[in-house]
Amino acid sequence: MQSLERDYKHYYYIIREGISLKNYEERYLPIPVEYKRGKPKEHDADVLQLCAQAMCLEEMLVCTVKKGYLYYGESKRRVMIEFDLELRQKVSTTFERMHQLYNKRHTPKVKVSKACKACSLSEVCLPKLNKKISVTEYMEKNLGGGMQ
Ligand code: SF4
Repeated sequence: MQSLERDYKHYYYIIREGISLKNYEERYLPIPVEYKRGKPKEHDADVLQLCAQAMCLEEMLVCTVKKGYLYYGESKRRVMIEFDLELRQKVSTTFERMHQLYNKRHTPKVKVSKACKACSLSEVCLPKLNKKISVTEYMEKNLGGGMQ
């Protein structure tokens, strides 16, 4: 028997706990594990990232993902994260804010920090460059035109 559940703004069907895999009879619970090189951070970016991944998995696999893990290379420990309603709402609110910024075509200035040195996005984020010129100026200078 399937039921329609509401989880904040996301609707999904729960048929049975877990998902089926091709050529396997049993059902499995997806549990995301995010590997980080460093140690747990003071802000909640890692937790929000993991919860967003879980919400994507739920939509993709039509299941419920209740928890996940953050594994930190420095401490060689993993931290269990429960995806409660409060955390899910924070992810949704963050995405809403991102969409608002995108619709306004506004790219906020980044705050350069020591985390940028080890960030895997530094090659595309270019935080130091962002301090010098605007995105429009960068596009005009390097691509020969402004943003569409
Ligand atoms: S490089 Fe960009 S995305 Fe990475 S930590 Fe710095 S500001 Fe954030």
